Amino acid sequence: MSNESLKPFRNIETPGYVGFANLPNQVHRKSVKKGFEFTLMVVGESGLGKSTLVNTLFLADLYPERIVPDAIEKTHQIVKLDASTVEIEERGVKLRLTVVDTPGFGDAIDNTDSFRSIIQYIDDQFERFLRDESGLNRRNIVDNRIHCCFYFISPFGHGLKPLDIEFMKQLHNKVNIVPVIAKADVLTKKEMLRLKKRVLEEIESNGIKIYPLPDCDSDEDEEYKEQVRQLRESVPFAVCGANTLLEVRGRKVRGRLYPWGVVEVENPDHCDFIKLRTMLITHMQDLQEVTQEVHYENYRSERLAKGAPVPKRQTPSVFEEKPPTGDKDRILQEKEAELRRMQEMLAKMEAQMQQQQH
Ligand code: GDP
Repeated sequence: MSNESLKPFRNIETPGYVGFANLPNQVHRKSVKKGFEFTLMVVGESGLGKSTLVNTLFLADLYPERIVPDAIEKTHQIVKLDASTVEIEERGVKLRLTVVDTPGFGDAIDNTDSFRSIIQYIDDQFERFLRDESGLNRRNIVDNRIHCCFYFISPFGHGLKPLDIEFMKQLHNKVNIVPVIAKADVLTKKEMLRLKKRVLEEIESNGIKIYPLPDCDSDEDEEYKEQVRQLRESVPFAVCGANTLLEVRGRKVRGRLYPWGVVEVENPDHCDFIKLRTMLITHMQDLQEVTQEVHYENYRSERLAKGAPVPKRQTPSVFEEKPPTGDKDRILQEKEAELRRMQEMLAKMEAQMQQQQH
C-alpha cells in the first residue's frame, strides 16, 4: 500500500466526509472506474447502537423504513438478515457499500438459529462467488462476500458473554472480525480501559482470531507507522454513534447531548469512532484480500474435503487486473495446486470405491 493512500486521523476528521476518496491508491484503476465494492456485516444484540453507528459511519440513512420489534415479537424472532446497499461518491470515487445487519441477534431465548442463519448467509455468499468465478461472465462478478464483521460488545457487562465467545469462535474462520465496544459514552475512562483489557484477554484465552492489522513495511513513513500503532492499541474500538448535528463552541459536530454536556462522536478524546473509521477505510483492500486469500480459500478447501465437486476456477477474478504481488501470488498458486491434487485424490478414491462395490 502506498503512503499517499493513508491519511493520518487529522486529515479525515472533517465532518460530512467519510474519507474513501483516497481508495484509488489502494486498488487498481479499473475497479475504481467500476466502483469499489465492500460488504460490512454488523452483529450484536439489538439495542447496542449498530444501526446508529452504521448511519454515522457512512453519513447516510441506511435504514429509513426500519421497524423495531417489541419484546414479545423478539422472543420468537428468527434472525433476519437485512442487506442494504448504498452508493456513496466522494471526489468522483464511487463506493458501493453493502451493510448486512443482523437484527434480533441474541434476543431470542435459544440462539442456535442466530448462529445458523448468519453462518449460512456468509457461506451462501462464498458459494455464489465460487459459482460465478467459474462461470463465463466472471469479469462482471458482483462480490457480495462479507469483507468485515463489526462485532458489538455490550458496555454494561464485565467482559464477553458466553454468547459472544461462542459466536466469534464459529465465525473467525469465515470472516474478518473487528470487535467493537458499543455505547462508549456510558463508561468512564478507567472503566473503559478495564473492559478493553478484559475483552482482549478473553479473546486470547478462548483462541478467538480477530482481524490482525497488517504489519507496516519498514520503508513506510513514521506518521503511518504511528497511526497503525495507535489503531492496534485501540482494539477493541470503543465507539459512540449519533445522527444529530449539534453546535459546540461555534462548531457543528455530530454528537449526543446530555444534561451535563455533549459527547462528540468524532472527537478522539471522547471515543474511538475516528479510529474505527480510519481502520476500515485504510484497510479496505487488505480486508478484501484476507477475505479472498484466507476465508474464501478455507471455504473452498472445506467444500473439497467434504467431497463436493468444486467448480474449476479460471483465474482469481477479483484481483486478476492486479500485477503479480510476489509472495501472495506464489502462495495462491501453491494453494491452487494443492487443491487440485486433493481433488484428483478424491476422484481416484471415489473410482476405487465404485470398483470395490462391483
Ligand atoms: P441496534 O438495535 O443495535 O441497531 O441499535 P440502535 O442503533 O437502534 O440504537 C438503540 C438505542 O441506543 C437508540 O435509542 C439509540 O439512540 C441509542 N444509541 C445508539 N448509539 C448510542 C451510543 O453510542 N451511546 C448511547 N448512550 N446510546 C446510543
